[in-house]
Amino acid sequence: SFGEDLGEAKQNILIIGAGLCGSLLALRLGQRGFNVSLYEMRPDIRTANISAGRSINLALSDRGIKAMKLAGIEDKVRELCIPMNGRMLHDIEGNMVMAPYSGREHEYINSISRGLLNGLLLDEAEKHDNVKIYFNKRCKSVDFEKTTALFKDYESNTEFVEDADVIIATDGAGSALRKSYFLGKKFLFSFSQDWLSHGYKELSFHPTEDGGFKTYKNALHIWGRDSFMLIALPNLDGSFTVTLFLSYEDGEYNFGNLTTEEKVIEFFQKYFKDALELMPNLIEDFFTNPTSPLGTVKCSPWHYKGNTLLMGDAAHAIVPFYGQGMNASFEDVTVFDQVLDEGHKDWETIFKTYEKKRKRDTDAIADLAIDNFHEMKGHVNNAIFREKRNLEMALEKNFPNDYSSKYSLVTFNEEISYYEAMLRGRAQDKAILNMLADKELDLNDDLKTNLEKVKAATEEILEDDRVAKDFKH
Ligand code: FAD
Repeated sequence: SFGEDLGEAKQNILIIGAGLCGSLLALRLGQRGFNVSLYEMRPDIRTANISAGRSINLALSDRGIKAMKLAGIEDKVRELCIPMNGRMLHDIEGNMVMAPYSGREHEYINSISRGLLNGLLLDEAEKHDNVKIYFNKRCKSVDFEKTTALFKDYESNTEFVEDADVIIATDGAGSALRKSYFLGKKFLFSFSQDWLSHGYKELSFHPTEDGGFKTYKNALHIWGRDSFMLIALPNLDGSFTVTLFLSYEDGEYNFGNLTTEEKVIEFFQKYFKDALELMPNLIEDFFTNPTSPLGTVKCSPWHYKGNTLLMGDAAHAIVPFYGQGMNASFEDVTVFDQVLDEGHKDWETIFKTYEKKRKRDTDAIADLAIDNFHEMKGHVNNAIFREKRNLEMALEKNFPNDYSSKYSLVTFNEEISYYEAMLRGRAQDKAILNMLADKELDLNDDLKTNLEKVKAATEEILEDDRVAKDFKH
């Protein structure tokens, strides 16, 4: 294998950032026999009482689970999961309707605590003698020509430099390595950061007095209100983590003008009445918890020669509306591992091959996540989208091997790439919506007839896309 060729045991890999991606990467590279040093700026999440910094819980789906399988910890991770079988849609009157994620019953997403998952990954990584983890060490910059990283040690208040054979930065959306690429001006580095006009704030439903769930447990709850929305994901202790997505300055209510208790209550009373009833703690949460921005980061190249590499959010931060940021970051590790298996002889080829394989897919999920932002806020309530959704559910249920919606392709089909899921998924959406609008699709028709119609129209759109692309090239 590659490892033997390159002297796996002798290769020192420095990983910056022990979040979700970095901890899994350290575990996997440790399993492969590399010497791994993992540096994290925060205290140890397993012992320190700190918030994870990002969302408290997340939706874990099949791409992430595949990476857990690779690392041999699927069973341990499943113990931390709460299955969410669909979206529980809450309308403005407080009515609830469950919209399953898939017509196939075994397909669902999972709510998982960021802290517990990160802790498990650290525990597993630490079992390997060849993996060392250091906390309270913040990377300030990386000299990617010398393959060294400068750290600030918060415990001794000193600075030190570490070198390694390669440095991989998994230090999240504000990556220090990415900054060093950008400021270094030593090579052509493309970088874009797009902020949404919306930010988010985390709120909560506390458990009932006997530790139960205040609302239906096995769903991702959504209160979609066109230009803003509220969502809630369950936690093992009976609580829900609730997230408000709202514009910073547009609309009647926004983060800029929700400055008094009265106004916050008025807003929730008007739009999220049933949620408000579950939140006697609303005001405290609202004025204690930060409002944070949401953005998309794209950049290239991810690597500098065979010295340094960006992975996870550091390479491709996305907005959270497909629930795929962590899943994509875990899939990075799966793909990197596959490239290591290919037996390349040097790091530069490995990094290049990895980026070439991966970049198109992370660009695709970034764009899909923006699409879903609009779908979740509004379209889930719209009649024609509901018809489409019902048809797709019926197709998935009755023809489980022949049809998958865009959501299923992205979320439950870990064997196809994000890029392919995007092309096929968008073509299907376009085909169905056009045919529903033009009354070419009759939902009373035999389901098999509708399946054939959708398939034919999808192929036609895919073919047009191919022709258009060839023409451009
Ligand atoms: P991070 O998790 O950000 O980890 C980076 C680590 O590096 C942190 O531990 C940090 O302390 C450390 N670090 C940072 N800078 C330095 C430095 N200079 N030196 C040393 N250490 C450093 N994804 C999903 O799949 N499903 C979801 O449902 C979902 N929901 C989300 C909801 C919200 C509101 C947000 C904001 C994101 C959500 N995501 C979700 C995305 C997910 O959080 C990220 O994609 C994921 O955390 C990326 O992992 P990472 O390890 O690359 O980065």
